[in-house]
Amino acid sequence: MSEADFDIIVVGSGCAGAVAAYVAASAGKSVLVVERGNYAGAKNMTGGRIYSHALKPVFPDFEEEAPLERKITHERIAMLSADSEMTIDFTSPELAREGADSYSVLRGPFDQWLAEKAEAAGAEYICGIAVEELLRDGSGRVVGIRAGEDEITGSVTIVAEGVNALLSERSLGNPRPAANQMAVGIKEVFELPSQVIEDRFLLPEGEGAAMLFVGDCTKGRVGGGFLYTNRESISLGLVATISTAAAGENPVPVYQMLEDFKNHPAVAPIIRGATMVEHSGHMVPEGGHDMIPQYVFDGALLAGEAAGLCMNMGYQVRGMDFAVASGRMAAEAACEALDAGDVSAAGLAGYRRRMEDSFVIKDLATFSKWPHVMEGWDSMFNDYPTMAAEVMNALFCVDGEPQQPLRRRIMPIVKKRGLIKTAREVKKAVSAL
Ligand SMILES: Cc1cc2nc3c(=O)[nH]c(=O)nc-3n(C[C@H](O)[C@H](O)[C@H](O)COP(=O)(O)OP(=O)(O)OC[C@H]3O[C@@H](n4cnc5c(N)ncnc54)[C@H](O)[C@@H]3O)c2cc1C
Repeated sequence: MSEADFDIIVVGSGCAGAVAAYVAASAGKSVLVVERGNYAGAKNMTGGRIYSHALKPVFPDFEEEAPLERKITHERIAMLSADSEMTIDFTSPELAREGADSYSVLRGPFDQWLAEKAEAAGAEYICGIAVEELLRDGSGRVVGIRAGEDEITGSVTIVAEGVNALLSERSLGNPRPAANQMAVGIKEVFELPSQVIEDRFLLPEGEGAAMLFVGDCTKGRVGGGFLYTNRESISLGLVATISTAAAGENPVPVYQMLEDFKNHPAVAPIIRGATMVEHSGHMVPEGGHDMIPQYVFDGALLAGEAAGLCMNMGYQVRGMDFAVASGRMAAEAACEALDAGDVSAAGLAGYRRRMEDSFVIKDLATFSKWPHVMEGWDSMFNDYPTMAAEVMNALFCVDGEPQQPLRRRIMPIVKKRGLIKTAREVKKAVSAL
C-alpha cells in the first residue's frame, strides 16, 4: 500500500470530511482533502444547530475554540395556520447540560475552523476543484480519485461529498434516492443587534433559541420551517419534500412559501427591521434509515450525508452530529485497516461495526418509521394547525355572549375531523416516535 500518493484521500470538507481528515492526520497518516468549494464551507448550509455530544470526543476544547453562535437554551415548536400560531415554548437547565447541549452555527466560519484543525494536524488541502470519479483497479477496489486532469492515488478514499452523492451513485453503484426521500431547504440570514435578538426571544445574554414550525409555512404540505438565533443574526428557512414541492398540482413554489412565511404574523415581528445578508438553498435527505446505502467498499468508505445520515423528526433536526461522528469513525476504521495492511471491505469492516454500535445507526433505526408516518400524515400539515387555532379561540375568546361549557365548545371542533380518525393518526405517530 505504500505506493499510493496518500494513505487517505477525503472527498469533501464538510462536517464529515474535515473531521475524518483531522482524525486520520492526527493519527499520523498522510491525508489529502479535495473540496470543490473555493474554501471549506463555501457551498455548505445548515439550519442550524449542532448537538455537542459528537464534537466533544474529537475536539474536547471546542467550546473555547470553535466559532459557535449561541448555546441553545430555549426550544419552541409552533403550529401555524394561515393567520394563527400556537407555540410550545420550553426552557430548562437540562438543555444546557454538558453533553446534552447544542449550539447554533453558521457553516462558513464553522467549516473553515474544522478545515483549519485538519490542516494543523497535517492534512493537505486542494480547494476549488471537484472530484469527478473514483479510480478503481482491475479487481474493482477504489484506489484514488480523478479531479480535473489529475489522478491521485490513496490507499483508502473517504467519500464525504454530502447529500448530492454523485460519486457514490456513479462510481460505486449506489441507488439515487427517491423524490420522497429528499427535500429542498432554503434559508435566509437576517442581521439584528444581539440585544434585540435577546429581547425578542426573552433570552439571557449570550443564550439562544431554536424554533421549528409546521403548517402554513409549507402551505400544508410535508415539510416545515426553522429559525435559529445566532449572535447577531437569525437563520430562517424552510424545508419541503421534493415529491410535494415539485408536484404539478403544487400551486406555491418553495421560494414563495418562504416569502409568505416571512410575512406570517408569527415571523414578521421577529425579523422586523432586520437586514437580509445571505440567501441559500440546499438539498436535505429525509428518508432516514431506509435510505442508508452500502457504505463500506474495497478501498472506500462513505460518511455523513453521502451515507444518507440525516434525521428530521419535526421537533429535532440532526445531520451534523451524524456527520461528525461518522467522519471520526470512518477515519478510525481506515487507520486500523491501514495498520493491519488490509483495506478491502473486510479490512474496513470496523467502520460498519463502529457505526452499528453507535447512536448513528441506532437512532436512525429506532425512528425508521417516522419518515413514512410524516409522508402520509397530511392533516398534521394542514388540518391540525387549523384545529389548534379553533381550540385556542374557543379557550380564549370572550365576547359577552353566554358561554357554553368548554367541552361543548371543543368537542365539535375535534368531532368534525373524526374522533376515531384523529386518535388513530396520533397513535400511529406516537408509535413511530
Ligand atoms: C435547510 C437545512 C437545514 C438543516 N438543519 C440542520 C440542523 O439544524 N442541524 C443538523 O445537525 N443538521 C441540519 N441539516 C443537515 C446538515 O446540514 C447535514 O447533515 C450536514 O451538513 C452533512 O454534513 P456532510 O459533511 O455529510 O456534508 P456537507 O456538509 O454537505 O459537506 C459536503 C462537502 O463535500 C463537498 N463536495 C461535494 N461533492 C464534491 C466533489 N465531487 N468533490 C469535492 N468536494 C465535493 C461540498 O462542497 C461540501 O463541502 C440541515 C440541512 C439543510 C439543507
